[in-house]
Amino acid sequence: MTSQQSKITAIVGAQWGDEGKGKITDFFAGESDYVVRFHGGNNAGHTVIVDGNTFKLHLIPSGIVYGEPVSIIGNGVVVDPKALLDEIAYVKDKGINPKLMVSDRAHAIMPYHIAMDGALSGHQGDLAAGSTRRGIAPVYADKMFRNGIRMIDLLEPDVFKEKLEKGYSFSKGIIEKTLNRSLDISLNEIFDTYSDYGQKLKPYIHDTSVELYNAHKSGKSILFEGAQGISLDVDHGVYPFTTSSNTAAGHISTGTGVSFRDIDRIIGVTKAYLSRVGESPLPSEIRGEEAKMLRDKGGEYGTTTGRPRRVGWLDLVQVRQAVRVNGLTEIALTKVDILNGFVELPICVAYDVDGNRIAEMPASLTEYRKAKPIYEILPGWGDLPKNVWEKGYDAIPQTLKDYISFIEREVDCSVKIVSIGPQRHETIIR
Ligand code: GDP
Repeated sequence: MTSQQSKITAIVGAQWGDEGKGKITDFFAGESDYVVRFHGGNNAGHTVIVDGNTFKLHLIPSGIVYGEPVSIIGNGVVVDPKALLDEIAYVKDKGINPKLMVSDRAHAIMPYHIAMDGALSGHQGDLAAGSTRRGIAPVYADKMFRNGIRMIDLLEPDVFKEKLEKGYSFSKGIIEKTLNRSLDISLNEIFDTYSDYGQKLKPYIHDTSVELYNAHKSGKSILFEGAQGISLDVDHGVYPFTTSSNTAAGHISTGTGVSFRDIDRIIGVTKAYLSRVGESPLPSEIRGEEAKMLRDKGGEYGTTTGRPRRVGWLDLVQVRQAVRVNGLTEIALTKVDILNGFVELPICVAYDVDGNRIAEMPASLTEYRKAKPIYEILPGWGDLPKNVWEKGYDAIPQTLKDYISFIEREVDCSVKIVSIGPQRHETIIR
């Protein structure tokens, strides 16, 4: 396929994460001049397999594994300097010389953010998404408090000391006085260790907004790689069961300093059913035998924890919001093969809340908790013809075409990529 049709492409999750963004990114990353992350931190995870070599990355964009593209960690990302150094060492170990740039404006995750994250989880109980305890929420909060330490600060001892004194004492107070935990690491120890990390990372720290601006002006192609999904967006998602950053495409502009006016193509990756890690109401959730079958077939178990993920039928209320908020130009529908063999396929088109039909994601947690799925039942497609990807879209069963057309009508967006297996070639492009 010719995947690099436009100069600036973005790939974002249209559900709860784990939609299969990794595979879709793989189509584009190798041919891009730049691959860029714009939000989140090392709370994300993607697996990329190139020439039989498996890479597990949390912070560095997946473009790194192809050698040629420049990988950029934008200012909207939060960076644990130690985790970044470890990941750089990891890719070097695999024989890659990392072409990597980190924004000088990206905020650094400090040890007190990680300590606070652990303490916060107990405080928030069930009324929050399960935290990865990597310091993500506290570092974003500190950024807004204007207590944060940016990557550039690690290179400037006087400013670093000044800011660290403020940030350290503030967080220590919250951890010890409000959350009743202790913070055992001293300010001086942090100062020394993080100054050292700064020196090690110095070659990678740049004004990445200017770099991307110049790259775009000179006709280079850029791929923005989203993490998580729309329902985890801190503004548009099911708050407070969200992540602590904006996952929506709009954040590309603020999180990298590249104007949204320049983005040509925004692909929303949508799994043909859904899965969810962690708490929150989930209207189209299924349980029991059917859930187990879908979970086993789809391999819906946590990649690091092995914990079973919650699963459910495709929720078009959610996808409708993803189309609108992200300004999706197209949908990549993934894991279609996992639904092979189902005789009937329920699709959630709206919610019933106290007898009212609701077609958009409610902001009200009361309503979302009460929401019951309103399903349309579509016939399944049995099995797909052998090697159907070689024959193209025309060769797929009519019932699958109808299923896809139904989604397109309901959410007002075209499905341009249909993924029917984990491998690169198991894909149909329209
Ligand atoms: P991400 O969190 O959105 O990046 O999701 P991943 O890239 O980790 O995808 C989740 C899993 O689904 C991975 O193991 C992929 O190999 C797999 N996957 C992606 N697309 C398909 C597909 O169309 N069919 C099947 N069976 N597996 C897929």
